Amino acid sequence: MLRFYHDAGKVLYFNETGLKQSVIIDVQWFVDVFKHVITDTLHVDGIIGSSGDWYEYYETGNLKDTLLENIWADSKKTDTLCHKQTILDFMQRLGLVAVGKESHYVPCMNRKEMNDNQKNILQSKSKSSLLVYRFKVLPFFFFFRLVVACMQEKGWTVPKSEGISYLYKNMALFAFGQYNIILSVTADSIQLQVLHAQDEQSLDERKTRQIQGTVETHLNAIIGTFHKKLMFVRGIRCQEDKSTPFAMKIEGYFLEEKDIQSEDQNEICPQHRLENKHKINLYELKKYWVF
Ligand SMILES: [Zn+2]
Repeated sequence: MLRFYHDAGKVLYFNETGLKQSVIIDVQWFVDVFKHVITDTLHVDGIIGSSGDWYEYYETGNLKDTLLENIWADSKKTDTLCHKQTILDFMQRLGLVAVGKESHYVPCMNRKEMNDNQKNILQSKSKSSLLVYRFKVLPFFFFFRLVVACMQEKGWTVPKSEGISYLYKNMALFAFGQYNIILSVTADSIQLQVLHAQDEQSLDERKTRQIQGTVETHLNAIIGTFHKKLMFVRGIRCQEDKSTPFAMKIEGYFLEEKDIQSEDQNEICPQHRLENKHKINLYELKKYWVF
């Protein structure tokens, strides 16, 4: 019955460990609680909290737990704080927030762009080909949900540079053993690339395929929660984009899975047969991924 009401949008209920003991019977209340977290500074006069914490939150989406408590304490809804953990668990399940101990990550607040120096460092690493999930319609929050899900993944951590996480508005970088994983998003695609943390080291294809499996498990779970399934097609980019190390333009460079069945090592790129003609090594491009 609860699942029926959940599907009908009347309540929030997940029959999952850690969540199934609670039901949110007032969905609007829950929406308001979240809205209060993403409201802008003009609306939050009177909330106590250091301006440094505010600034960090508005730029990076990194929300100190103390600031969150201040926001909710001020929300004049006395019941918010006493249900804090339950609310956070539900928000995390919905991909709105990644919950931590001292601070939380609210991806839709992240306005941060990577600087050129960091981009150059990424460009210099040895890396896999770019695996692309192209969508006809891609709701942007799919990407946020994917990032939040990967943040909970065992062994995946988000590294920091000078205390700031490698989480940007259209890109997230994870560390996984000897590897770095880049997940990025464009208007119509989610992209995955694996880099070796040490320059010039070659990548183990079993690891890149394992990473692909992890990402696709989360991606399929996110898509599966929608009634009308939003499907993607998989493929690779025929060559690197020299100007940007992530969130690369796909149009005109996309080789769909079904069109690259051969393992030809010396083929003219089907996307660039006439203009900007170049050769591709399909074996090299495909070997990192399971198709
Ligand atoms: Zn090409």
